[in-house]
Parts: sequence; C-alpha cells; structure tokens
Amino acid sequence: MKDGTDIVVVGGGLAGLSASFALSRAGRRVAVFEGDSEVGGLSKTIRRGDFRFDLGGHRFITKNEKTERFVKTLLEGQYLTVPRKSKIYMQNKFFDYPLKPSNALFGLGIPTTLKVISDYSKEKIKNLFRTPKNISLEDWVVSHFGRTMFTIYFKEYSEKVWGIECSRISEEWVSQRISGLSLGVAIKNAFFKFSGQEVNTLVDRFIYPPMGIGQISDRLKAEIEKENPVLTNTRAVRINHKNFLVDSVIAANCDRRYEVRGSEFVSSIPLTGLVKMLAPPPPDDILDAVSRLKYRDLVIVTVMLDRERVTDLTWMYLPEQDMRLGRIHEPKNWSPHMAPEGKTHIVAEYFCFRGDGTWNLPDGRLVSLTVKQLEKLLAIRESEVIGSCVVRVPGAYPLFEVGYTKHYSRVLRYLRNFRNLHIIGRTGMFKYYNMDRAIETGIEVAEDILGKQPRQKERETLPAGA
Ligand SMILES: Cc1cc2nc3c(=O)[nH]c(=O)nc-3n(C[C@H](O)[C@H](O)[C@H](O)COP(=O)(O)OP(=O)(O)OC[C@H]3O[C@@H](n4cnc5c(N)ncnc54)[C@H](O)[C@@H]3O)c2cc1C
Repeated sequence: MKDGTDIVVVGGGLAGLSASFALSRAGRRVAVFEGDSEVGGLSKTIRRGDFRFDLGGHRFITKNEKTERFVKTLLEGQYLTVPRKSKIYMQNKFFDYPLKPSNALFGLGIPTTLKVISDYSKEKIKNLFRTPKNISLEDWVVSHFGRTMFTIYFKEYSEKVWGIECSRISEEWVSQRISGLSLGVAIKNAFFKFSGQEVNTLVDRFIYPPMGIGQISDRLKAEIEKENPVLTNTRAVRINHKNFLVDSVIAANCDRRYEVRGSEFVSSIPLTGLVKMLAPPPPDDILDAVSRLKYRDLVIVTVMLDRERVTDLTWMYLPEQDMRLGRIHEPKNWSPHMAPEGKTHIVAEYFCFRGDGTWNLPDGRLVSLTVKQLEKLLAIRESEVIGSCVVRVPGAYPLFEVGYTKHYSRVLRYLRNFRNLHIIGRTGMFKYYNMDRAIETGIEVAEDILGKQPRQKERETLPAGA
C-alpha cells in the first residue's frame, strides 16, 4: 500500500468500487478494504469448477444513460443482451411473468378474475372520495389493487421475502422502489393498462456480462489496481474519530491489525455495522436506534446437474408457503458460459434471517431439501445431481418494518455530524437500491469529494416524512 493514503473506502461491493474507481481516475490515493476473499459483495459471481452463479440472478437495467454507458464501457463491449422470460408458480400452476390477461383469466378462472376486477374498481371509486392512509404494504396494495389481488398474489410472496406479515412491512418500501414490487406491477399490467408509463421491472431485455454479473466488479477492481490497492480478506473493525472527524480505520486480516489514516472515509458496509464500529461509541439512544434496524438475509443453494438444460427461463417465482424456496434461476439461460457443455445448474434462493431454522440448516440438509423441491417442480432426478454449493448471504435486503423511519432518521442525523464520513450504496445507506443506484451513489460521493458536484444529502438519504 502506498504511503499517505488519502481516502479510505470500506466495502468492495459495486458502490465502494465505483467510488474508488472515480477517485483513482482523478489521481487520488485510495485504499479499499473488503472483508470477503473477493470483491463484488451482493453482485459477485461465485465459481465452482466450471460452473458460475450469481447470488440470485442479477440483471443490469437502468433508465440512466450515463450509468448504462459507464457499465458498457467498463465491460469493453463484452456483454450480452438477454431476453427476459419468467414464470410464477401458484396454485399448482405456472403463470407467465409478466402475466398476460388470457393467461391470468384461464389460470384463475372467470369468477376469481371478476372478483379481482370488481375489488379493484371498488378501491378506485373509494379513492375518488378519500386519500387512502397507507402505512403498511398491505394498506398500499389493497388501496391500489383491491383486497382479492392482495390475498391471491401479494400476501404469500411478500411474507416469504420479508419474513413478517404484510401489515408490518412499511409502505415506504413500495413507494421507495416500485420496481421492487415486480410481482404486483406485472399483475396490474396484466389486468389493467398502465398509462404508457414504462415500468423498469417489466423491461423485457437486460444487459448481462458473459461470465456473470461479478465481471463488473472484477473490471472495476482491475482498473483501480492500476493506481491503488484493493485489499480483500481485510475487514474494518474500528473507526476512530474525534469531534466528528474520522482520523483512522483499524483494519484486520488473518495475520494482523493495522491503522490506516486518511482525510476522507467512505463506507458501503452495513449501516448497522458502521455505527457499532465507531470509537468512541455513539450515545446510547443512537445505539438503541441502530439496533432496531434489521436486514433480511439469504441462503443460496446451487445444484449442478448432468443435463444440458432444465428450463428456458430467466427466473421462476415461488410464492406458495408450502414450498420453502422463494425463487430459482438457471444461469445458462443468462449466459451459455455459466456452465460447461452438457451440464447445467439451478440456483435456489431461500429468504431467511441469520440464525433462524433455514440459515442454520446443515448444508447437506439444504441440498437435499432443494433437490426434493426441484424434483416436484421441474421433474429433475436425484441421479442427475453431480454437485452442489451452499452460500449464506448476510444483509441481502434492508428490512423496512413499519416505524423504522423514526430510528433510521435518528441514526442518519447523528452520522451527518461527521465532516469526512460518507455513506453509500444499498447496504451502507439502508436503501432498496439496485446495482445502477449502488454504482451511482459511489460516483456521486467521489464527485462530492472531488468538489465537483455537492450532493443534496437531505434529499438523498432521509426517508419521506422523517
Ligand atoms: C437476491 C438479490 C438479487 C438481486 N438482483 C438484482 C438485479 O437483478 N438487478 C440489480 O440491479 N440489482 C439486484 N440486486 C441488488 C444488488 O445486489 C445491489 O444493489 C448491489 O450489489 C449493492 O452494492 P453495494 O456495494 O451497495 O453493497 P454490497 O454489495 O452489500 O457491498 C458491501 C460490501 O462491504 C463488505 N463488508 C461488509 N462489512 C465489511 C467490513 N467490516 N470491512 C470491509 N468490508 C466489509 C461486504 O463483504 C460487501 O462486499 C439484487 C440483490 C439481491 C440480494
């Protein structure tokens, strides 16, 4: 590492790497600390022999032309444009995703379809006379789609993803990122026409690097390393500050701990972890507030198969509660380079909380559970299984529980006192951001530091109504 590091970036996911890339390009001395053995964070691609898989299929889409150009240039034109083709498995049937009206009608039957339409119309009429008070996801969905639609489609999948009842999931999640509500938008589109508005989540093609989404992070790392170090297997364990000015980070790898000084500090690690790392520690009310912010975690189980292909799908959504799986994808349908010829693999996502029954299941049990479900769902045979891999992913989703904004705002207000500590990215800012926004927050903070474009921090980080 060069002497006189100027800017310390903690977390080598897309946000941290993008910030470091922009700062390195501008000639600044940056050091990146990444706790894992590889960069990429949630957007990394795991390699097992000749098989590759993302931590849940990651497609790159954006409405921001500058961000799209940034990614395409970084990949040096080496990307695929992949058609999207997905299904939802409900009531023991496969439905197209996005739903087509005919598909929905025949799948649900005419009486249920009529009930969906009449409930929706009732809510629309009610909304002419009152502004609905939307506090929870349930309130929001019922007032926008009607009660029948909520019960049939939203309830099970949302509760599976978030692990709490829809009445406890904050409406903020929906309003913060409508494309996150992909299931609902698809259904609404199937039954009722949108007013010409392009919905990000329904875009039918996306950009995908041939060797997996982790190629974006690997390219960023390679570019940064032309000028500056990216230290993997190195965790930040303490952030020393005085009078709201950070002066050093204590980093640790398996051999030693050391102190790195700098003038600016950028964090993309979980917001909760960052606050607990501050030395001296924040006041008790801040520690209490941060202890109330939670992330939803994920277990990924990949099953390698001695078969050329199982599906022709990008994703399959599995809302039903009697199936523990939440979503699956077959990486070979994203890029043919993700598995060797004549073989394929299915990647299954289990939404869970760190330390719960799913998280703690031994790997062998998770694999056999997955194979059993895939036998039922996709008619694979156990004798075709030639390998497996289990990856536990902490902090996959910020959990927006009703009332979280009070605690979140308190933490942000405290952090804003720091003059040289910047938080970025999905995990770092506790926002439901996709890759494009993670990249953008990294570049924005770099511009901020370089003094080019001061950010409007109030607008950027405080939740509505906070
Ligand atoms: C299942 C799933 C599917 C998704 N699909 C899509 C998709 O299709 N399209 C899309 O655009 N987005 C998708 N996303 C979102 C996307 O993954 C994120 O927006 C993006 O990866 C966030 O990057 P980040 O750098 O903000 O955070 P992270 O990727 O979380 O990076 C934080 C980094 O900090 C490191 N770290 C943590 N603690 C420490 C420490 N103490 N010291 C040093 N390092 C530390 C972590 O190891 C990690 O590398 C998906 C997310 C999930 C969970």
